[in-house]
Amino acid sequence: MRMIVWSYGTELKRVWNGKRVSLKCSSCDRQATFYESTADESFKVFLVVDLYKKSRRVMQCGECQGVCDYFEMFPHEKEAFEAAQAKAAKEAHDRQKAEEQRKREATERELKRQEEEAHKRREQEQKRKDQEVNSELEALKKKLGK
Ligand SMILES: [Zn+2]
Repeated sequence: MRMIVWSYGTELKRVWNGKRVSLKCSSCDRQATFYESTADESFKVFLVVDLYKKSRRVMQCGECQGVCDYFEMFPHEKEAFEAAQAKAAKEAHDRQKAEEQRKREATERELKRQEEEAHKRREQEQKRKDQEVNSELEALKKKLGK
């Protein structure tokens, strides 16, 4: 098995208890042990403050530090890994949808509450006016009764 090996400028972390494969490195041409590692790829998005961090699974040569794609070495794992990633992405999407729904419901509840409050205020105001009219009538009756 010969792998495509390249050198990596960004930060590499060896995976603790990760996979080890012994094979001839296409970069240094030595029989070497490749260690499972992750490479962090950071993207700074200008004008937006967000910093995205993406990890890539790689295998690193123990001799020359060259790396090759993890799934090039373990192609049979690719489908399961991508399925797990797609599942995680879908779950994150569903969570966001649920959160949006929750916010929408909260807003609707608040609007309803305000409406009910305004309605109550109008009722109280009407009651007060009715009482005023009643007491005016009382006063008028008393005046006429005299
Ligand atoms: Zn090498």
